[in-house]
Parts: sequence; structure tokens; C-alpha cells
Amino acid sequence: MSNHFVARTPSVFSLKDFLYSFLLIELFKGLALTGRYLFRRKVTVQFPEEKTPLSPRFRGLHALRRYENGEERCIACKLCEAVCPAMAITIESDVRADGSRRTTRYDIDLTKCIFCGFCEESCPVDSIVETHILEYHGEKRGDLYFTKDMLLAVGDRYESVIAAAKQSDAKYR
Ligand code: SF4
Ligand code: SF4
Repeated sequence: MSNHFVARTPSVFSLKDFLYSFLLIELFKGLALTGRYLFRRKVTVQFPEEKTPLSPRFRGLHALRRYENGEERCIACKLCEAVCPAMAITIESDVRADGSRRTTRYDIDLTKCIFCGFCEESCPVDSIVETHILEYHGEKRGDLYFTKDMLLAVGDRYESVIAAAKQSDAKYR
């Protein structure tokens, strides 16, 4: 009995499939769906000409910040290095002639980074931050290895934007 059932079942479905194909049912269903959305408000954007708003907490390219007098904020406490789950940060430090401690090396390997934001959260002086910059790339592995000078340069260039994002987010912290 089960053999009889198995033998008949495919032919029933084949006839239905044949009719669907012959009458172009699926095609018309697809066109009907397209037609329903044709005159609705569009929700797609034409990136990169059009951009969606970014949260002040957006986690993009890293930057090292300075104080207004030009002094580096980073005090080489190494909290960011310790908290980084990807072990992407490498710091070396030394003591200056004036007794202050500063980094002599601060590297981030962005091929390891998972953009979790822990480094920014852990920093006691708001030195390492993640900016809104998302349009960058590297053509070889070394291009995404950011040194201290590169990170400071990003910070110098985008300080006003970084400060504004910090300011707008401050009331929620
Ligand atoms: S964002 Fe996360 S993974 Fe990337 S450097 Fe900071 S702590 Fe490490
Ligand atoms: S960036 Fe911040 S957390 Fe990292 S070493 Fe410097 S002061 Fe410490």
C-alpha cells in the first residue's frame, strides 16, 4: 500500500507544478509584489552618495586624542591593552624628564580588532576613542596596522567631531 502511495504522489505534484509554470503563476505573483511596493516610500539609500545617520556611539576607526594645549591625553596606564579581547593593542611606555608617563609605542592591529569598544570604555582620560569613520580600507595587511602617529593624526583631524559625539552622549552615561 505504501508503494502505491509513493508511486502516485509525484505525478499529482508534477501536474500542479506544470500548471503553475504554464500559466506563469509565480511570475505574476512576483510582479504583483513588485507592483505593491512600486509607489510606496523608498527605504533604500544610494550609498555612498546618500548616508544614513550614525549614532554618537558608532564604533569606527580608532583615534588617539590630545588636550587643548596639544598634550597627549594617554597616560600609558595600559587598561585598554589589558581589556582588549582581540589582543589588538600593543603599548610600550617610558617616563619623561618631567616625571610623567607616556607611551613610546601605541599600535592597533585593525585586522585583529573586533570593534567592541572596550578600549574606549576602559580609558580613564578619554584618550583612545572610536570615531564615526567607516570608509577606509587597506590593500595589504600592513595598511591596517595603525601606529601611534597615525592614531594621533586621526584624532587631530577629527577632534571637533569626536568631542561633539562625546558631548551628545554624555547625558546618557
Ligand atoms: S575595539 Fe575592542 S577589539 Fe578593537 S582594539 Fe578596542 S578593545 Fe580591542
Ligand atoms: S589610551 Fe587610555 S586606557 Fe589606553 S593606555 Fe592610554 S590612558 Fe590608558
